[in-house]
Amino acid sequence: MVDIVGLDMDNVLPVVEQQFIDYAIHMRGTPDLILEDSRKQKAIVIDWKTGKDTPTWHESSQVIAYALMEGRRLGFEKAEAIKAILGEPVRDTKGMVTTISGIRILPVIIRPTTKRSMLKPHPILSATSQDFDIKYNEFKDLLNDTCIEAEHLSLLLTDQHALTGVKEEETQIPMMIQGQEHRVNILRYTPRQLRRGVPSVQQRFPCRLPTGQEFCNLIEPCRYYFGKFGEQGDYEKAMWTLRFKVFKRNEKDLLLYRAIFDVFEFFDKDEIIAKLQSGQGIRARIGHAPTFDPKLKMRLAAIRDDYEAEFRMDLLDTLEVDKSWRAGLIGKRQYRDFEKESRKFRVVNEGKPVLLTSLDSGAPLLSVGVFARVDEISPEENQLTYSFKAPSKILNYQTMIFHEYLKLNPGFGNNVLMVEANVDLTQMELGAIDALQRSLRQTKDDGSTEIAEEELRMEEILAEETAVEIGAESEEKNLEAKLRDMIGKGVKRPVQSKRAN
Ligand code: SF4
Repeated sequence: MVDIVGLDMDNVLPVVEQQFIDYAIHMRGTPDLILEDSRKQKAIVIDWKTGKDTPTWHESSQVIAYALMEGRRLGFEKAEAIKAILGEPVRDTKGMVTTISGIRILPVIIRPTTKRSMLKPHPILSATSQDFDIKYNEFKDLLNDTCIEAEHLSLLLTDQHALTGVKEEETQIPMMIQGQEHRVNILRYTPRQLRRGVPSVQQRFPCRLPTGQEFCNLIEPCRYYFGKFGEQGDYEKAMWTLRFKVFKRNEKDLLLYRAIFDVFEFFDKDEIIAKLQSGQGIRARIGHAPTFDPKLKMRLAAIRDDYEAEFRMDLLDTLEVDKSWRAGLIGKRQYRDFEKESRKFRVVNEGKPVLLTSLDSGAPLLSVGVFARVDEISPEENQLTYSFKAPSKILNYQTMIFHEYLKLNPGFGNNVLMVEANVDLTQMELGAIDALQRSLRQTKDDGSTEIAEEELRMEEILAEETAVEIGAESEEKNLEAKLRDMIGKGVKRPVQSKRAN
């Protein structure tokens, strides 16, 4: 693999379990391992799998998505990243692809039992001279489909009306589905080039293999959610509404990420560092050019549609391993001139969760970084010292990996950007809604009025959070009342429902 890509192993940096977000390709993920030679803009992107099975399409697509994010991390535009993964096909006189040259980023799935001939998904690893052309074209299609799928899934999670002003009714068109006419929102409909099954039947590929064996890993949740198209009960509609409330709130919570992305797309990293060092802040209205603002004093003011938020930022001169605590970090910076003059210090307050990013890639959300909590701030004669700890025990591991980066490459500890960052609970919240919805359907199907105790507890937490957001609109209050009415019936029953994938 090193030879295929042409990695210079003396310059290779291992990047391990690092979360990347890229709005240009609508992807977010945490690759297991990247071996990266940033000077030559080359990398091997590895996804470890523990099972013995042959990698499925979705597993191949997953590692391709990681490779695309790595391409962006190495500084490629989307089309360049696709080319860096695909390489240049070499064709014979009949136009058939016989091999590939110029691969810069190699995605690969490795299992404990993998033999070289079974390495996936790139054809350069497993194709033979007989099937090279077929495998190349399959891989190329999968790579393009992965990009389309990311756009499609992003649209599915988008509050269309809030972000574009276009109502759902305006993008609905009549469409025949299973012999019946339905009105379908064309922005949510699966693009035709993507493979699709029939959720209500699930008998043919890609739901099942010709042998009848399940092929798709989403058979159960797909049947549950989409098997009865257009037959949603009241409570199911309410659950979907609740889901979109989660998306909407997360759009707000994650506004910082989008604003940071926009700022670093627009300005050069060195310019941003210089402005922050001089005490300026940044104003970022999503969809518009961001601007520096001396009045903001090391804050990022992010605005999207009808909501805005300010996030404190800081720039650390150095970030080092805290030798007194296994999952701690110590950050230091000189006082800024404006702080000395005004005798007012702009810091991110103690107790706040922050994202610390090395900016090694030029884009903070594609750089080596770590989530931390500001544990203590100590003003000293010429400098401020921040002491950081992991925000939860679960993230100790991430901090310890970050220690290793600092040991391998102390340069990562210079000019570290720190921004207040909310913790993303999307997965947890959607899991809670899924559990409740299934529980309610089971309740209805059984004729029983009981709801599993654990699920009810999760819902209570969620309902409390949602209640804060529900505000004064009467329609939404009805939803809250409806939910509380349904939930109010719950007593004890063992948890039985399976969660959606
Ligand atoms: S089971 Fe559902 S999600 Fe999976 S392929 Fe079939 S229709 Fe698509």
